[in-house]
Amino acid sequence: MTTAERAPARPLAGPPAAAALLGEAARRAQALPTTPNLALVRVGEDPASVSYVKGKAKKAAEVGLRSQVHALPEHTTAAELLTLIHTLNANDDVHGILVQLPLPAHLDPQPALLALDPRKDVDGLHPVSTGLLWSAQPGLRPCTPAGVMALLAHYEVPVAGSRAVIVGRSVLVGRPMAALLLNASATVTVAHSRTPDLGAVTRDADLLIVAAGQAHLITPDMVKPGATVIDVGINRVPTGDGRGRLTGDVHPDVGLVAGALTPVPGGVGPMTVAQLLMNTVLAAERQHVEVHGELVR
Ligand code: NDP
Repeated sequence: MTTAERAPARPLAGPPAAAALLGEAARRAQALPTTPNLALVRVGEDPASVSYVKGKAKKAAEVGLRSQVHALPEHTTAAELLTLIHTLNANDDVHGILVQLPLPAHLDPQPALLALDPRKDVDGLHPVSTGLLWSAQPGLRPCTPAGVMALLAHYEVPVAGSRAVIVGRSVLVGRPMAALLLNASATVTVAHSRTPDLGAVTRDADLLIVAAGQAHLITPDMVKPGATVIDVGINRVPTGDGRGRLTGDVHPDVGLVAGALTPVPGGVGPMTVAQLLMNTVLAAERQHVEVHGELVR
């Protein structure tokens, strides 16, 4: 069949899948005796970070969770940041802690990340969370790749037994995505900037997940007809009016070859915040079970 004869790819829209995940988070939060509480830590006034943190707090309220923003000044020292994290760790009324990245240049994010109580690590980036993920033990998973798994489940995309290819090997997306797909019984390949003949690798994929941060890196000739393509990339390309336009790592014409494709924007993006709130509920549930024993739902 030629690309001209194929039906356009099924759009895997994020908002309905995110709404389902948020609904599940709200239902489970209500079943808890204490409303889950998320601490959002931000340092400085980076406009993107200010807007992300505001968005997360707003979404938390919509789902019926509590949250507080701890906005520290730009000149905060590493010791002051660690003191706040230790205080939040010790507070039994805080179930999840998120340190918004990037931090100002003078602050190394690693000590802050390591200082988090892994039980409250709702971003899923603490080495304990990574270890649990790679050993297929229950734990808190990084939000974007876990959100992708929730999206695949929502649209009933088969994962077990599929050939999955991930483009990108970052700690934030590519690596945990590989572990999640492996745990879900896919056969997983991870490609990166040093992979020779990327197209030969991606053409093998039933399930292609692209998180490279390169606008339109994946073109139709690099995709197996009928494959499911998940575009994690968010790139701002110039539009001439100085405002720019958001686009993914996947060329729009891939929609003529793929069986299913996530749009950008409106694909993976909404899943990331939904998964953060789900992680907050999961963290609160586990902390409740540790103190009080089993949950009654
Ligand atoms: P990073 O820059 O940390 O990692 C990018 C990865 O892609 C690296 O492993 C890099 O390889 C690989 N890569 C870059 N260029 C190529 C290429 N030409 N061919 C093959 N591989 C390549 O980015 P992130 O993982 O943090 O993010 C990836 C994208 O996803 C970005 O656009 C980001 O904005 C977006 N994103 C979206 C989120 C959402 O909610 N939708 C959340 C998080 C990220 P190497 O390791 O060899 O350098």
